[in-house]
Amino acid sequence: MFIFELIDPLNRSWREDVLMNRFHPKDVVAIKAIRLGLFPCPDTQVWGATRNGLFSIKSAYHLICNQQDSRKSERPSTSAQGNRRIIPNEVWRSIWACNVQPKVRNFLWHACSNGLASTEGLTRRGVNVDPCCCHCGELETPDHILLNCVFARAVWFASRLSFSPPHVDPQIHKAIQGWSSLISKDKIIGRETFGLAAHICWSLWKARNDALLGGKQLSRIDVSKQAEFEFEEFLSISKSSSNPPHARSDPSFKHPWKPPASHGLKLNVDASITDNKGGLGYVLRDSSGQVVSACSEPITKYSVILSEALTIRAGMQHCISMGINHLEVENDNQELMRCLSDQYLSPPLEIFTIVQDIMALSSSFSSCIFHIIPRENNSMADSLARRALSVACRTSWLISTPWISELCNSDSLRWSRFNI
Ligand SMILES: [Zn+2]
Repeated sequence: MFIFELIDPLNRSWREDVLMNRFHPKDVVAIKAIRLGLFPCPDTQVWGATRNGLFSIKSAYHLICNQQDSRKSERPSTSAQGNRRIIPNEVWRSIWACNVQPKVRNFLWHACSNGLASTEGLTRRGVNVDPCCCHCGELETPDHILLNCVFARAVWFASRLSFSPPHVDPQIHKAIQGWSSLISKDKIIGRETFGLAAHICWSLWKARNDALLGGKQLSRIDVSKQAEFEFEEFLSISKSSSNPPHARSDPSFKHPWKPPASHGLKLNVDASITDNKGGLGYVLRDSSGQVVSACSEPITKYSVILSEALTIRAGMQHCISMGINHLEVENDNQELMRCLSDQYLSPPLEIFTIVQDIMALSSSFSSCIFHIIPRENNSMADSLARRALSVACRTSWLISTPWISELCNSDSLRWSRFNI
């Protein structure tokens, strides 16, 4: 059987009747989730363990480790710390999204990866050290240092969070899951709680090192105050850098949107995603900065990069239907635009067929150039994409629509001011 037998060549869709006859219903759902391109393309071999489908030794190593982890997790564990744990992906995502200094994020990552140099870990690796905690004499594991030690419990209790780690098998990744889940209930309070908790973990680790290596014993109040002070200092610095005192520090003022060359048109595209739906928006402007067309279209919710790629494809199809010869395409998704600008880069598998479509469509123009732009310079396309979330079907906006004119004038004004 060949893949092309499963595809309807006329409307470029999966042949559901053939799929249902030959595959398990679960597999049919998975196959139908693969997006087909507009044009037929030759079959290629892909490696499923990397994002771009290319084989690497590193990915093969991780694949084997994950398989071993899965097998171990199916067997009853005799030593929770000795075995590698299966950490849910959401924990890693929460760690990298945590609003703290990079060194604190890295520390949490090490703590969850069982990569902290606790004395239990060192003993396991053959280093001749006393594996007992310097505070209480129990086995010193990362979970013990950060959650279960009597000293850690006292620090948590003395902190503003008054957190009490569970008494049965406390684990740092489970604690992180709990803190990050607060963000979905209240974004501001949740982020601050998670950030402070991360700093308390960091301060506990530093206090442990001071006690063990420097002979310096801090009190539980010292450690909790130090964590609160460092976190508040970080918040005040990040707040002042995200609220520039002068409008000129806005990147859109430094590098404003620029009209295309006199013989061409410029297409700005953007996608917008919410919890349950997506929208795409694009605007086509001429060399005087005037809007030629502006569209919003609701789409199914996909990942950011796939939504952006679909938006570029839709915008380019629109430009072809208008008979445009010279086109510049602008978008703020760096990864996607790099794939479109560099033919030697392999795009992620999820956008592979869409990137092929875009490249095929680009040959319909006399010239077609792709530019990466700062997000701030894509405000008009961004507004159109957000409007797509509240319209029922593809909407072509009248150029005289007040908010369209306003956004267009704002971009042109910034550009003309920049050139003074
Ligand atoms: Zn202890």
